[in-house]
Amino acid sequence: MDMAEDTIFSKIVRGEIPADIVYRDDLVTAFRDINPLTPTHVLIVPNETIPTLADVSADDEAVLGRMLRVAADIAAAEGIAEDGYRVMINCRDHGGQEVYHLHLHLMGGRPLGGMVRR
Ligand code: 5GP
Repeated sequence: MDMAEDTIFSKIVRGEIPADIVYRDDLVTAFRDINPLTPTHVLIVPNETIPTLADVSADDEAVLGRMLRVAADIAAAEGIAEDGYRVMINCRDHGGQEVYHLHLHLMGGRPLGGMVRR
């Protein structure tokens, strides 16, 4: 196995470590964050490892689009679409990224306030 594929999230995608999976298809997997910051906190990841948003290429447009559409579908299924929610991608050091496997945070279920603290 290519070590670039061996992130904690790729292990979840492959079913090697447990997670509360809410959705999966040929391109993406979605599961609940282990340390949720909001009542709904779901992570949506590409099945194939892309380390960061800064690493995407034109070849990744389909999976990037799928991640956003799946986020909207999960938000609707979770019952948070009407009130609204936030989707967020942290990129590299200054973005506060901890896991170097691209992921979209879907967060909602309460008012989230301003976007970034000054
Ligand atoms: P980042 O800071 O990289 O954008 O976010 C990483 C997120 O992954 C964090 O919110 C953290 O709680 C979550 N996380 C880290 N390890 C695991 C894990 O093993 N399982 C799950 N479900 N979430 C994880």
